[in-house]
Amino acid sequence: MPSPLKALDCDHNNLIVADCGSIGKCQCGAVVTGSELVRLLMKINRAAFEELEKTRAELEALKAKEAQFREVVAQVIDWLPFPAWFHPVATLDWYLNKAHVERFGIKRGHFWEPVNVMVNYPLSVATDLMRADMEMIQGGLATTQEMSVPGRLLEEIGVDNPAMEIEVTKYPIIVSGEAYVFGRCI
Ligand SMILES: [Zn+2]
Repeated sequence: MPSPLKALDCDHNNLIVADCGSIGKCQCGAVVTGSELVRLLMKINRAAFEELEKTRAELEALKAKEAQFREVVAQVIDWLPFPAWFHPVATLDWYLNKAHVERFGIKRGHFWEPVNVMVNYPLSVATDLMRADMEMIQGGLATTQEMSVPGRLLEEIGVDNPAMEIEVTKYPIIVSGEAYVFGRCI
């Protein structure tokens, strides 16, 4: 409930305009009409617009900060001298570092350009991999496993693309209830 003292200071922001649009009434009891009503509505609109602009500017600043942080993460992982990747487990997206794309003959632009590394895995290998990721996340401990993968990872295994045995270590990352895997090849 507005106090009587508050009502004395009122600048009519609690204005309610009647259906006809020509009479405004404030909670403080004031009735405003005509040019005073127009002036008041413009003032209220301007305040709302300024608030919106401020929120938009804050959102832009936050987005810029997030983009900056993502770039830092990209460069840190790209500098690692061994194949490494980052993978949100709920997706088919893998973010591969430079050493990874060079070793496994993968073309990608920026680090944050997702690659589906399982695109040519046999279904049983793909499901095993996903199950292993889930178990590791639930266990909360890094795990090391041996894997057989195509030498050029995104192409089918064949005479000119023999399978390679690799040793992979994966680390569970859980942030705000979302699960991710950071992995590396030895
Ligand atoms: Zn008022």
